Amino acid sequence: MNTAFRKRIGLENDLRRALVDGELELYYQPCVSVGRGCVVALEALVRWRHPEHGLLNPTNFVAIAEEVGLIHAIGDFVVESACRQLRQWHDTGFRHIRVAINASPREFERRDFVERVLSTMRKFALPNNALEVEITENTLISDTEGTIERVKQLRSAGVRIAIDDFGTRYSSLNYLQRFPVHTLKIDQCFVRDLQPGRPDSPIIHAIVAIAKGFGIHLVSEGVETEFQRDALARMGCDEMQGYLFSHPLSPEKATDYMVGASAEDTVPLG
Ligand code: C2E
Ligand code: MG
Ligand code: MG
Repeated sequence: MNTAFRKRIGLENDLRRALVDGELELYYQPCVSVGRGCVVALEALVRWRHPEHGLLNPTNFVAIAEEVGLIHAIGDFVVESACRQLRQWHDTGFRHIRVAINASPREFERRDFVERVLSTMRKFALPNNALEVEITENTLISDTEGTIERVKQLRSAGVRIAIDDFGTRYSSLNYLQRFPVHTLKIDQCFVRDLQPGRPDSPIIHAIVAIAKGFGIHLVSEGVETEFQRDALARMGCDEMQGYLFSHPLSPEKATDYMVGASAEDTVPLG
């Protein structure tokens, strides 16, 4: 108990220092259109380059950051850094590329969250629809302190909204009717179940039908094998992310990936 507590405090202090010392970085995972053979977007995933422990994934620090209130500072870093990178990509020929950022429910509790996102988009002279904000079903369901209102404000300003890990939380499908979103991301746990001998998934079929019915964009996450890619394509999914295509990459490597994947003409913003 005591050791765990001390470890936590240590981590919290380290994280405070990391924010000041600029140890956070964004990695980018390409999202590809299998049919068109090009990169359509990149998802920004935060990393902590820890001086002793190396490159840490968000599972090691996002939950603590949420508990101790540091998630706001992380969110500011993510928005600023993703927008700066997006500007650079738009300037260097990837004019239609989109970047997705992840926002925790806690970030939507901030009164100035929407203004911060929009003013950063303005600062880098970016069209609002070049940014997609990924939220989880929990953000929409826990309508605390005007969360939904803020998501709506972002959406009316043209920022795209995606539901991450769709189908894994407490889903009340009713919200899709009341609250149109642009994209549903099929969680990797459903994709993982697609294995030789099990090429079909009733859940994925249902999600594809929901997306089609509502005219919502669909992205499959965690695609690791050609078998999964082909099964998803057969079920009607075109856009995919996963290790089969690419791991999350540093900005430089993500640029190389786009060049290599012949994103000569990336797909126009929808
Ligand atoms: P997520 O948004 O659902 O991101 C997908 C996670 O799956 C990423 O882990 C990614 O590296 C990993 N992944 C991608 N392709 C594959 C694959 O083919 N197989 C497997 N097994 N995994 C794959 P990561 O980067 O560790 O992020 C974990 C979660 O942390 C994210 O899940 C997101 O919820 C959260 N997160 C990431 N960046 C941020 C951020 O900037 N802010 C906030 N609030 N949360 C973040
Ligand atoms: Mg995500
Ligand atoms: Mg996800």
